[in-house]
Amino acid sequence: MEETLHRLQTEAETAFTAVSSLVELEEIRVKYLGRKGLLANTMKQLGQAASEDRPRLGQLANAVKQEVESLFFARKEALEVGSLPPKQALDLSLPGRFVPFGKLHPVTQVMEEICAVFEGMGFAVAEGPDVETDHYNFEALNIPAHHPARDMHDTFYVSDSLLLRTHTSTMQARIMEKQEPPLRYIAPGKVYRCDSDITHTPMFHQVEGFLVDRQVSFADLKGVLTLFTNRIFDGDLPLRFRPSFFPFTEPSAEVDIACVICKGAGCRVCKQTGWIEILGAGMIDPEVMKMVGYDSEQFSGFAFGLGVERIAMLKYGIDDIRLYYENDLRFLRQF
Ligand SMILES: [Zn+2]
Repeated sequence: MEETLHRLQTEAETAFTAVSSLVELEEIRVKYLGRKGLLANTMKQLGQAASEDRPRLGQLANAVKQEVESLFFARKEALEVGSLPPKQALDLSLPGRFVPFGKLHPVTQVMEEICAVFEGMGFAVAEGPDVETDHYNFEALNIPAHHPARDMHDTFYVSDSLLLRTHTSTMQARIMEKQEPPLRYIAPGKVYRCDSDITHTPMFHQVEGFLVDRQVSFADLKGVLTLFTNRIFDGDLPLRFRPSFFPFTEPSAEVDIACVICKGAGCRVCKQTGWIEILGAGMIDPEVMKMVGYDSEQFSGFAFGLGVERIAMLKYGIDDIRLYYENDLRFLRQF
């Protein structure tokens, strides 16, 4: 039986190699590999072999069958490719395949646009760490431990002294303690707060900016922000400053623009008021100046902070902040 198996393998190999058409190939397959073929017949004789030889002969028979089968498939593939008319094998006149290309996320686009507007006004861009010390996030901005303003920030703490920054205002003290005025900086980046709903995500993007020089007044702040909103929203939208409180600015204001949707007439987006809040700002508190060793009698400055997602929502009329992070391509491709 062993001899028969080896002989069949050699014969089958010769036959498959010599074959030149698919019809012929099929005939040979039936002859050797078919249900009533030569190999199947030989394997039936396994039962008559001595019981101690059976495992070895069974293994051999399977190995031979596998060899012959793989040879059959190899020949079949070769004959199929060869049997195609030359035109179908490669059609040079077919149009090319479309390769989709990505683009920048709407938040990134608006962030870059905001930076470009401020860079046009002479502001430099500064970036800092996302994991920040309690000192730069709070202490240096006049928010000592146990100050009630800390509650507004819903902070993610990494340890007692380390946290995920709750605003990019952290760069203010970092830059001011290393450089002397005049300073004009914006700090774009990710910030983190433990908050999530239709207008809040635990991570969002902020651009904070500040300017320190001699004789800087609230009028300068108003001028810079008016120019900024006109550029970003492509129009001459009036601004409104409402008194507010931030520990690191005095006086402080929340800034509204006339509703970009209804131009001030009143609609659902602006809750019929005609105004939409877009950022917080104020004159840098003399206490913050003192902490970095500036003479607050000589220098003054202003600071502002705005949410990039919020600006993008207003710019494009998006009503749910979570859309930015669901990665739905139908949404993202619109920008
Ligand atoms: Zn409106």
